[in-house]
Amino acid sequence: MWRRVPETAALYLLLAALAASGPVLQSRHDSVSTGPEAPRLIDVLGYRIELGLEPEARSLSARAEITLRVVEADVATVRLDLVGLTVDSVTVDGAAAQFSQHETGFELQTGRSASPGDTLVIEVFYHGTPREGLYFQPDAYGRPTVFADNWPDRARHWFPAVDHPRDKATVEFHVLAPQEWKVVSVGRLKSETEFADGRRLTVWATERPLPVYTMVVGAGVLVVRELGALGCTPHADRCVPITQWVFPEDEERALRLFRRAPQMVAFYDSLIGPFPYEKLALVQSSTRFGGMENSSAIFFAEGVVRRAASDVIVAHEVAHQWFGDAVTEADWAHLWLSEGFATYFASVFYEFVDGIAAADALRATAEQRYLASGDVARPIIELPPDDLFRLLNSNHYHKGAWVLHMLRRVVGDEAFFAGIRRYFATHAHGTALSADLRRALEEESESELGWFFEQWLERPGYPQVEVRMSWDGEAGVLALELVQAQPWRPFRFPLDIEAKGEGYRLQKTVWVERGKESVAWELPGEPVRVVVDPDNQLLGTTKLVR
Ligand SMILES: [Zn+2]
Repeated sequence: MWRRVPETAALYLLLAALAASGPVLQSRHDSVSTGPEAPRLIDVLGYRIELGLEPEARSLSARAEITLRVVEADVATVRLDLVGLTVDSVTVDGAAAQFSQHETGFELQTGRSASPGDTLVIEVFYHGTPREGLYFQPDAYGRPTVFADNWPDRARHWFPAVDHPRDKATVEFHVLAPQEWKVVSVGRLKSETEFADGRRLTVWATERPLPVYTMVVGAGVLVVRELGALGCTPHADRCVPITQWVFPEDEERALRLFRRAPQMVAFYDSLIGPFPYEKLALVQSSTRFGGMENSSAIFFAEGVVRRAASDVIVAHEVAHQWFGDAVTEADWAHLWLSEGFATYFASVFYEFVDGIAAADALRATAEQRYLASGDVARPIIELPPDDLFRLLNSNHYHKGAWVLHMLRRVVGDEAFFAGIRRYFATHAHGTALSADLRRALEEESESELGWFFEQWLERPGYPQVEVRMSWDGEAGVLALELVQAQPWRPFRFPLDIEAKGEGYRLQKTVWVERGKESVAWELPGEPVRVVVDPDNQLLGTTKLVR
């Protein structure tokens, strides 16, 4: 499909280009940060990465073409992230450019003063053996494979980039690999061209900008199967094929694990907004994560495909296509907008499809894992650690999921899902911060939610509620005293209380606002059983104290 007349092979003979000699100025520099604190001088619009894979040498020869727009002030020097590979030459708008390479990247001279709004095309010829980010390693059956695994900032080990989620861009991958391999990537398959030397050039391209951490390729002996499609009827204005790409031995197991993927895509598509990409490929790979939500090409660990007992991981990664991928956290500190959302919306799929008990069980597990984690003394939003892998903690996943669940409780289902749809529609294919989510929910719920976002995102901990009660038989009143006993400041939240007695079972919701609340509850008779938070709607602990 989408085969085109072979373009001239010479265009892709990347190796030949390596001979191209620009003026090479090798020197070492102190690293210049491209973190969130760095001023944003440039905005990458698109990457075109041509990769010649040499599996035996475990190396690559490549040409990157980066189209960028100047954002701020006059720019005479452009800095890009690139680690561990050798830059051979650089051009700017077709003219050889001066550059200097150092440990974490390279700087090139634009050769002129580029002003805000100007577009530059930078071409980089480079080669080497990636230490990280792109892995040449055998699959479980001993065959060589090549898989990228970029999160959080490992793309810089195999292509030059502004390697930060705030700078999204389109990407094209042109991959030269052995003909017996299949090459899978993000976006749409544009062409496959076979050459007489036994290699095939596969081209994938995205129409939509992606975060750099999801710009991946995978290559190896893979079997492709169609799983289903979204909207592919005659005359449909869009058609999203859903396929699996797995090792031949694992095909049947993968079909079982991915069985409901088309249903998940259709579910989120109707609940949140249109599926954001051209297709969805589910790929067995060497990712170090169980699953990695690469935009339109989700990578799953080899062992997960062989052994996963449930498809929760599939729902999680599919939900990421909307949250994390299409709406990307503009800063690492707001990673919960990706992981908390994927965790929560996986449970929402089970709630609507398998029933409330399945969702309750997932939420209870998330709560237990959060309470048992070492993360409770820190807020969700804090300065990102130097080691970004430490962001993969219970605050962003489990507490983040619970924040969404409690937000839904506070504003109600209708405003919650309308707010989520508004947030997605406003920020799809861009980036967002937590305040953007707050604004969308405030508009749909017509209420001020600053207090909610502040206490759950910017403050550590959770409520530890102690409930003291006494029964006044003469008045028929149950007196309750609710004390927030946690070491952190009091939280504000609705709390359900259930009372059961002779011939009745009643439930009441108390808005807890302060560290100590007193409630008088008139009941038909002495309760035999009182349960606090009977449906587990509060992230926290409750204890009856007699
Ligand atoms: Zn995730």
